[in-house]
Amino acid sequence: MHDANHLIRQLRESSVGREGDVFARLPDGGTVTFGALFTGAERMAAALAAQGVQPGDRVAVQVQKTIQAIELYLGTVMAGGIFLPLNTAYTGPEVAYFVGDAKPRVVACDPARLDEITAIAGAAQVLTLDAVGQGSLRDLADGQNGFEAVERGADDLAAILYTSGTTGRSKGAMLSHENLASNSLTLRDYWRFTTDDVLIHALPIFHTHGLFVATNVALFAGAQVVFLPGFDADAILEAMPAATALMGVPTFYTRLLADARLTKERAAKMRMFISGSAPLLVDTHEQWETRTGHRILERYGMTETNMSTSNPYDGERRAGTVGFPLPDVEARVMQDGAEVPAGEIGVLEVRGPNVFQGYWQMPEKTAEELRPDGWFITGDMARVDADGYVTIVGREKDLIITGGFNVYPKEVESLIDDLPGVLESAVIGVPHPDFGEGVVAVVVPDGGGTSAEAINAALSGQLARFKQPKEIILLEALPRNTMGKVQKKALREEYAGLFS
Ligand code: AMP
Repeated sequence: MHDANHLIRQLRESSVGREGDVFARLPDGGTVTFGALFTGAERMAAALAAQGVQPGDRVAVQVQKTIQAIELYLGTVMAGGIFLPLNTAYTGPEVAYFVGDAKPRVVACDPARLDEITAIAGAAQVLTLDAVGQGSLRDLADGQNGFEAVERGADDLAAILYTSGTTGRSKGAMLSHENLASNSLTLRDYWRFTTDDVLIHALPIFHTHGLFVATNVALFAGAQVVFLPGFDADAILEAMPAATALMGVPTFYTRLLADARLTKERAAKMRMFISGSAPLLVDTHEQWETRTGHRILERYGMTETNMSTSNPYDGERRAGTVGFPLPDVEARVMQDGAEVPAGEIGVLEVRGPNVFQGYWQMPEKTAEELRPDGWFITGDMARVDADGYVTIVGREKDLIITGGFNVYPKEVESLIDDLPGVLESAVIGVPHPDFGEGVVAVVVPDGGGTSAEAINAALSGQLARFKQPKEIILLEALPRNTMGKVQKKALREEYAGLFS
């Protein structure tokens, strides 16, 4: 019956016969079974179809994290639509850009923003879903009965996720049923998720990490999730003794480390802690092992590629690296049109069933980044060591060129981060009248006592002069987005006039 809706058919098959088993545990003590989840998804699909959603239509969604929002994701794809999640932090003008670009048939938003969103929604139907899963969309869905999944093939689009747009306009990454299904199945097997797992799900669901890595992997494994509306140290620590896995961004781990309740005993039943979406500090990795006895498993991916590399389950989880290319994923490091030897830095390219279909209505941008033979130019600078471990050294656009010399921020950051009294750092290049760009280090002290002079003195023996910061700025915290990524662009703007 559901044969032809590629992703949803596969997700659903994973829990056939277990419809009565619990998929999600909710913060209020309630539970949602696999059966209820897919019934809810069918009702959402029927509601969307009743609003005129046809195969290939976009459904833009800016709502809080609820099970109904997951049902809306599954229901959109069931109805043959393309799910387009938006960060809940986006303002009206930002949403207006996405809606104008993607021209969705339906926009789902929080009831509190109904007027604002209606004003910018153009021809789209605007429906609401609130933080407890109520609203006009839910009402419409509750009035529906079953729904037969619309026929869709492996190459049809299931989702468009807009990139965070650190340079220029945000681009819509088009992801097919096969892109999503193949990657989640690979991760399920690589990380050995089974029906015995209980995953703490505290990530947002408007981003690839929480939506696809966490949700799809759990569904494919028939695993249970502890479904939290967001990061909440109390709730995570409370769930931990009865859970087996946590997926988080690095800030999850640093925040949990700051809590005395994080102990070996509390993590005793946990099978795995996974980190990604931003670099995990070696220091965090080490502290985590000391405190819990677990080595965090770091993986690497991006909106356009799903997950591309992962540290191994059984082998050495090497801190500071993102492990090996996943099965069926190829990776290479390029410089000036040629692959570089092991250990040398260049731009990472990846190829495989995980790689997206291109940017929505941007054929030129697609052509710039996706080669005709399938290699995607990630824009991340990386190194692959002789034994195959991949290390990400930063975004290509964060590379600093000072006096004609390349400085990789991560090299300088790693040295600074290792100094006593330093919590973390971000190294950026800002305009400099003599050198083109000048190296600037923005440093967050850890309270143990440090100063610009002390950092300078420590670096001078270790780094070539051109790599040494010309200015060191001490800050209380680095600017980060919701996924824990340091906003270097904001720092570059802030300090643009430093040398002028
Ligand atoms: P996004 O598309 O928002 O998921 O961002 C993808 C980018 O996040 C990648 O291109 C990397 O620059 C960065 N990223 C993701 N995972 C890691 C990781 N484990 N280590 C370092 N950078 C990462």
